[in-house]
Amino acid sequence: MKILVTGGAGFIGSHTVDKLIREKCEVTVVDNLSTGQLKNLNPQAKFVNMDIKNPEIERLCNEERFDYVIHLAAQTMLHVSMGKPLFDCEENILGSLNILEACRKTGVKRVVFASSAAVYGYTETLPIDENNLLQPASFYGLSKTTVEKYLALYKAVYGLDYIVLRYANVFGERQGDGGEGGVISIFLRKIANNEVVTIFGDGGQTRDFIYVGDISAANYRAVCSAQANQALNISTGTEISINSILQIMQDISGRELTPMYDKPREGDIYRSCLNNRAADKVLGWQPKTSFAEGIKQTLESLK
Ligand code: NAD
Repeated sequence: MKILVTGGAGFIGSHTVDKLIREKCEVTVVDNLSTGQLKNLNPQAKFVNMDIKNPEIERLCNEERFDYVIHLAAQTMLHVSMGKPLFDCEENILGSLNILEACRKTGVKRVVFASSAAVYGYTETLPIDENNLLQPASFYGLSKTTVEKYLALYKAVYGLDYIVLRYANVFGERQGDGGEGGVISIFLRKIANNEVVTIFGDGGQTRDFIYVGDISAANYRAVCSAQANQALNISTGTEISINSILQIMQDISGRELTPMYDKPREGDIYRSCLNNRAADKVLGWQPKTSFAEGIKQTLESLK
């Protein structure tokens, strides 16, 4: 199987590439290294330093004739999208559209797209399932929602198969500080350096944190699954508050942590938790790593 992974030098991308290579796939990575790093990249993957907005992507897809594309490259920072919606649109909507054009013109069998819990926005009923209304509260969530809709229309018009994976907040080794699960890597690094941790809001806000190894397993299953053309939550189905995370980290690291509280960030939702039953039915996928186990492994990698 020949697979193109966009954003393969990034956090989720590099773990996904490792998983695909373990599964004996032939992997090419397109990444502009804006947040990704070459040191993350599995040496068995072919690397192309290219922006996803570059029209040359089509030539690459034509030459390589990829079977599948896992599209992860994106501007991943919600707060950046709030300050620079045009930039977010160029990276996340126009960049994705450039990838979709290349896919449909070169016979790619399926696109797996990294979407996000941010597509749901504010919602009362938890855990959120895939039929929930999409009403994003950030431009980042809006750009992910827009690409989901493009994918559905590309299927209807051109017959290009897709699977949308709406990840909850991801954490694990090699994570940068900026993206959606970034709070964990920020906290862990502060703990490792004995620095004060800042919490935006009262710390009672919750997220559904999922370990990156479970995400790369879902990405692989989405490539192979018999069913396609739908959106699936990829999550643990469990809510955990920021204050409890700090407590767990304190217990695991054996360090006393006194946080500073600051005002909540614009576009941040208060509670989030995604129902993951559809992913089990369609992909036969369930998360395997507990939060505490994932934190232990991540902390270990920082030592
Ligand atoms: P990341 O920043 O580590 O990875 C993104 C990668 O894409 C980087 O390697 C970066 O260099 C590359 N990239 C960015 N813009 C590019 C461009 N224009 N052209 C080529 N390459 C470009 O982020 P991540 O956390 O690994 O996120 C991967 C995907 O998962 C993103 O689409 C993100 O929106 C989505 N997602 C992440 C989370 C999370 O908690 N980390 C949650 C939901 C969805």
